[in-house]
Amino acid sequence: MALRNIRVQGDPVLNKVCKPVKEVTPRIRELIDDMIETMYDANGVGLAAPQVGILKRIVVIDIYDGNGPLVMINPEILETSGEQTGDEGCLSIPGKAAQVTRPNYVKARFFDEDMNECEVEGEELLARAICHETDHLDGHLYVEKAEGPIHDVVYVEEDEEEEEA
Ligand code: ZN
Repeated sequence: MALRNIRVQGDPVLNKVCKPVKEVTPRIRELIDDMIETMYDANGVGLAAPQVGILKRIVVIDIYDGNGPLVMINPEILETSGEQTGDEGCLSIPGKAAQVTRPNYVKARFFDEDMNECEVEGEELLARAICHETDHLDGHLYVEKAEGPIHDVVYVEEDEEEEEA
């Protein structure tokens, strides 16, 4: 496993539409392992493959509830309901956050690392993370949906770090 460089806003790879994964090759398994390691190293709650420069439909998410990491290949949002508005950040836009409204509930279909079809339901932070990460796969960043100024994240204490995806 190895850390990969996280691409930052302005890198054109972040604005491209990613291709579906047809087969989980050893190289893709290595990519997924690296993405998980890179996400944890950056204290993120999610990371999408284009953020490490790979245009494939793969995301990893961990909201630190004990159930992660969640690896989603070719994720597709099936249902949403409700809404939540809150600060959202992104590992590709370090040190910044802005208010974004997302569905409060999301149901999504995806494939796991053995290409088994799976479904996940998430509320609150998990719903937000699924929306944020699947947006990356279509070349979208949260700042396009920001409802207020993009502001600096102020770190009060180490254990109160804002979650960035
Ligand atoms: Zn992001």
